[in-house]
Amino acid sequence: MEMTLGSSASEESARRAPHRALTEAEDLSVDLMQNAGSTPKALILFGPPGSGKGTQAKLLKETLSIPHISTGDMLRERIASDDSLGLQLKELMHAGRLVPDDVVNRLVEERISLPDCSGGFILDGYPRTHQQAEVLDRRLHERGFEPVVIHLKVDYTKVIARIAGRRQCPVCGTLYSLTSNPPRNPEFCDLDGAALVIRDDDRESVIRERLEAYERQTRPVLDFFAASGAAVHEVDGHEGSPQEILHRIRSVMGWE
Ligand SMILES: [Zn+2]
Repeated sequence: MEMTLGSSASEESARRAPHRALTEAEDLSVDLMQNAGSTPKALILFGPPGSGKGTQAKLLKETLSIPHISTGDMLRERIASDDSLGLQLKELMHAGRLVPDDVVNRLVEERISLPDCSGGFILDGYPRTHQQAEVLDRRLHERGFEPVVIHLKVDYTKVIARIAGRRQCPVCGTLYSLTSNPPRNPEFCDLDGAALVIRDDDRESVIRERLEAYERQTRPVLDFFAASGAAVHEVDGHEGSPQEILHRIRSVMGWE
């Protein structure tokens, strides 16, 4: 009996830690369908390059258990698939051309018509232009989704500093951040000792160009949704950890 008690106590403490973690994850999860009869939502995640939009999209996907649709990932997958559209996309990218709006619109339309999107979904990197926003808005209304825009606001000076601190290993591909995830030695890869490099995309002049393009092209998309009467929530995206930012999103959405 004593033996049993002893072993069960240690088993109990061994079991408790993972169990507690699981309960917290469950507490975090939000059932979008919990309000019976509520319209499924299309969460449109907005923010300039470097705002941590992709990270929040992934956290929201886990929290809400709805698909995360990244047009960047979709285009890359399509190119890799080598079907006729994939080959066309590959040619466009090789020629340094942008993928036309109607192609991106069609890919998103196909994706959101799949059954796993019926309870709602998260859009990341789309819509990028006024034309894409108009098409999306029409599709969402046709399919009975309510557009909800979450705009991650960030200080551009901080974005530039954060991106400019990115380093990549040319050998194994590992990404480091001198500010948030630094290698032991700022110049070399922890895994293989190779000299780290700054990717072309992470150079300050390139970042400034992308931020300007965002202001010029994507800002009007936010204005479009605001004018169309969609809910547009502004969230401070530059202070705090990804979890704290997620918390702010949950709070503006009323999910707590
Ligand atoms: Zn490496």
